[in-house]
Amino acid sequence: MTKARSSSRSAGDYEESKVCKLWQSVCRAAKFLFWLSAGNLLLLRSKLRPHGVRCATRTETQNQESKSKSMKIVFISDTHDQHGEMITQVPDGDILIHAGDATMLGRMNEISAFGLWFRSLPHKHKVFVAGNHDWMFQKNRTMALQLLNNGIVGDGQGKIIYLEDNMAEVAGLKIYGSPWQPTFFDWAFNLDRGDAIKRKWDLIPEGIDILVTHGPPMGIHDQSFPHMPEDKHLGDQDLMDAVERAKPKIHVFGHIHGGYGKTQYVNTLFINAAICNEAYKPVNAPIVIEIADAEVAEVKGEEA
Ligand SMILES: [Zn+2]
Repeated sequence: MTKARSSSRSAGDYEESKVCKLWQSVCRAAKFLFWLSAGNLLLLRSKLRPHGVRCATRTETQNQESKSKSMKIVFISDTHDQHGEMITQVPDGDILIHAGDATMLGRMNEISAFGLWFRSLPHKHKVFVAGNHDWMFQKNRTMALQLLNNGIVGDGQGKIIYLEDNMAEVAGLKIYGSPWQPTFFDWAFNLDRGDAIKRKWDLIPEGIDILVTHGPPMGIHDQSFPHMPEDKHLGDQDLMDAVERAKPKIHVFGHIHGGYGKTQYVNTLFINAAICNEAYKPVNAPIVIEIADAEVAEVKGEEA
């Protein structure tokens, strides 16, 4: 009896364990299928996305698009034949602007050497305004321009745009340039303070983006030794009045080497980009400004 009960229990147990094993197999198969599909999904995702690269969000994509529209503008001035000795190399950018005094005496060989170096820089657009040392631009502008651009005519690739009381539209920016400064010993592009020089500043149009003059306006980055309290401001008041009228986004200049630096004042960012210090050593770094949301277009500039 005990044996019979025990054997019937064994048969039942056997049936039970068979059902149990079948159920376990079904579970394992379901699990396997689940992991297989999950694995496929992961594999598919990794194939769609390069390894290690996070997908950009919509905001990031928008930022990247607006960044691609921004422009880098590099400002230098007063290199005085020492462009090859600059302590800080000229960084790359979309536009390179030189605000005058590329040379010491404005002789043929100096302009030629400066032009060769300036054209060799990688910036797509280059703008130059003469300074009081760059004599040949006042005495024989045609020859000076030939030396500056080494015979490149029209809108040739790499051509330097020379501005003298005129404007060029460069990569969508309106840039106006003028070489004059208040009479300074017996140098080039001298005009007396008052009506004589004011007539030149009256030509500066409103609505420009960048104003390039060799000399500074009165009161800002216009001292030779700004750390000395008694040091005089040497800039021109009529030029400052013209800047306040025309409201350029940027006014770049040089001439007073000790005034190197930049300051935002009301509507305008004022930049003294003199590379040389008062001892004519090329110790200062080029000043780089990034302008956002500027339309990038080809040069439509005027011929000098
Ligand atoms: Zn200078």
